[in-house]
Amino acid sequence: MVRVRFAPSPTGHLHVGALRTALFNWLFARHHHGTFVLRIEDTDVARSSEEMSRSILEALSWVGLDWDEGPIYQSQRFEIYRRAARTLVDRGLAYYCFCSPEEIEKRRQETQARGEHWKYDRHCLNLSEKEKQDLREKGVAAAIRFLVPEGVTEFDDLVHGHISVDHRNLEDFVLLRGDGFPTYHLSVVVDDIDTGITHVIRGDDHISNTPKQILLYRALGAPVPQFAHLPLILGPDRKKLSKRHGDTSVLNFRDKGYLPLAFFNFMAQLSWSPGNEEKIYSIEEMVREFSLERISKGSPVFDLNKLEWLNSRLINELPLAELIAQLRPWLEKAGLWSDELVTTRRDWFERLVNLTRSRSRTLVDLSGMIAPFISDRFSYDPEAVRKHLLNGELDRVLPLLQDDFQKLENFSAQEIERTLRERAEKEGIKAAILIHALRVLVLGRAVSPGLFEVLELMGREQTLARMGKLSEVRKMIEN
Ligand code: GLU
Repeated sequence: MVRVRFAPSPTGHLHVGALRTALFNWLFARHHHGTFVLRIEDTDVARSSEEMSRSILEALSWVGLDWDEGPIYQSQRFEIYRRAARTLVDRGLAYYCFCSPEEIEKRRQETQARGEHWKYDRHCLNLSEKEKQDLREKGVAAAIRFLVPEGVTEFDDLVHGHISVDHRNLEDFVLLRGDGFPTYHLSVVVDDIDTGITHVIRGDDHISNTPKQILLYRALGAPVPQFAHLPLILGPDRKKLSKRHGDTSVLNFRDKGYLPLAFFNFMAQLSWSPGNEEKIYSIEEMVREFSLERISKGSPVFDLNKLEWLNSRLINELPLAELIAQLRPWLEKAGLWSDELVTTRRDWFERLVNLTRSRSRTLVDLSGMIAPFISDRFSYDPEAVRKHLLNGELDRVLPLLQDDFQKLENFSAQEIERTLRERAEKEGIKAAILIHALRVLVLGRAVSPGLFEVLELMGREQTLARMGKLSEVRKMIEN
């Protein structure tokens, strides 16, 4: 039975690197009908916060990752880690260390000054019971260090293949600090054992921790899980993805109007491809196809253009009802939503969304595109006004066109187009000049789907009203 875990530290918002780890654990669990455990690694009490824990859960839920067990909070398990460390001391597999950081630092510098490699020198391994007792009575705090045995640790990483580490390169690492707080190695292994984790899937940055942790599993008498370390994500400049490359927190992508499924596809395809990179996969398809063997060793590049491309594809491919459901919160937030849009005005609204979605890369774009059809609260792009509304001919021709529109029996795209072209011909003005001007007047922008359909959906009344605002709009750019 497959059991995996995602174990974020709540010291910041969930970022894309951690999300990819969560995603692969989740896909692996679902593919094998296994269990996905969520564990919050908040042992660093000073740097962790409940707010960040909540934000992490929110981000996972947005992407569509649910968990079967947890969240388990490590901060509630300190006593369990302490007990495990003491058990190892009792069994002679770990020992108390009374060295202060300053003493260790001094000896490190001395060793390195002699040109020798430093690792903890086991100063405290051979203290007698009496010496330890004296130190305790003096109030010197004791850490617990793992006693690394001689030998070699080997494991077969499911991504990187065979890895072997000589213990001469490992120092007796700390399990429990002098203040009683566990180190990362101890709490991770104790919890992985307690929750029966079979596969540890995590970032490459943990690969050097793995041999120490394998030693701990063995010392604690537990079976060692399998490991899969995911390659580091790079920015477009091929440097480690970081803040320099922009806001990489997952919720930021939600707030920018990306669809969760587009984001899911994008993230999954960092290191793995279900086959066709041009296709948007459903979650079920990805679960069916997922395998750790197909994860590539090379570092993937975080390419926002790809995400944007996937998102606009999905905005266009999604069944209309689903798209409207995703769009609704955005319209609500902008004060543009009313229930009529899905009751009495449903046909109209569906045509509107269908027309505008082809030009939208995000839900923010789409909501912005829809705004002028629903409300007068939209802004005019000054650049577009300057370019298309300053032509003096408009003062003469637009009122004539308003008249024409007024008289139309049927305010349909076809009729609007015919009328506009006839009027342009008669007045000796290019139709394109009128088309561009109308677009800016009714939508505030220079690009949109086909104008005639736009005007039909806008309706005669609103079209005429906005055509009448020519001088008002011109004034706006004067200041
Ligand atoms: N809490 C660790 C981190 O956020 C993960 C530990 C692990 O996966 O073993 O990097």
